[in-house]
Amino acid sequence: MALCCNNSPFDCLLLDLDDTLYPLSLGISQACKKNIDEFLAMKCGLPIEQASSLRVELFKKYGSSLAGLMALGYQVHPDEYHSFVHGLLPYEKIRPDSQLRELLLSIPQTKIIFTNSDRKHASRVLERLGIEEELFQKIICFETLNPELFDNKPTSAAVRQPPTVVLKPFIAAVEAAIDIAGFEPHRTLFLDDSEKNIAAGKAVGLRTALVGRSTKTKEADYAMESISSLRQTIPEIWEGEQAQKGVSGELTLLKVRNELDAIRPTTAPIQA
Ligand SMILES: [Mg+2]
Repeated sequence: MALCCNNSPFDCLLLDLDDTLYPLSLGISQACKKNIDEFLAMKCGLPIEQASSLRVELFKKYGSSLAGLMALGYQVHPDEYHSFVHGLLPYEKIRPDSQLRELLLSIPQTKIIFTNSDRKHASRVLERLGIEEELFQKIICFETLNPELFDNKPTSAAVRQPPTVVLKPFIAAVEAAIDIAGFEPHRTLFLDDSEKNIAAGKAVGLRTALVGRSTKTKEADYAMESISSLRQTIPEIWEGEQAQKGVSGELTLLKVRNELDAIRPTTAPIQA
């Protein structure tokens, strides 16, 4: 297992994408909900108002509209769904963010995107933000979490079951991300704008940071209104840089880190 070169308590940052790397106020999520309503109305033959209620119900019960449609037996390919709900988003609202790019570049740890969105959407958002994909060691997205939905192996009708869709906030999705990332959960910092996702991260032992909120929830170790205040909120990420300034400082930080490791609970991952 690779360890970070500095004395920070973190080896890896798992970063959500939507409403985390750019603000909720851009209205991308709102536009996405509208597109989902139109997709549900079209697929299920419903008036748009009923489709909106159905979206809320499916989200509550199955975690996403796509998962709900599949569970209910609708023949929907993920690519068809994503091209409709993401393909028509007002991406022009996402502007290049050079401060965010500088911030990400300054983070010494392994950085991994962990999003429920499809790969094409993730690429498009990063491109709009002016952030190179190479800045991240991996992009964990819908396709990564659900590879079996994309293999075209024929299944006999007799054994065909509605497929399980793995997404945050399901524990299975977070565990899969931890496996793919390959770092100890207690040394991995998970940033997300969803309280439910943060709770799932905490349940499997991740360190957690709620983005878009100034107050912490029970499961959030940190909270910040915007990712732009990451350095002020979690200076420990850059702890090694401070330690390199002087031998005495370095020794002090190492001592603090050892003490933290000694008192940190060793939470075993919950088996989904
Ligand atoms: Mg999000």
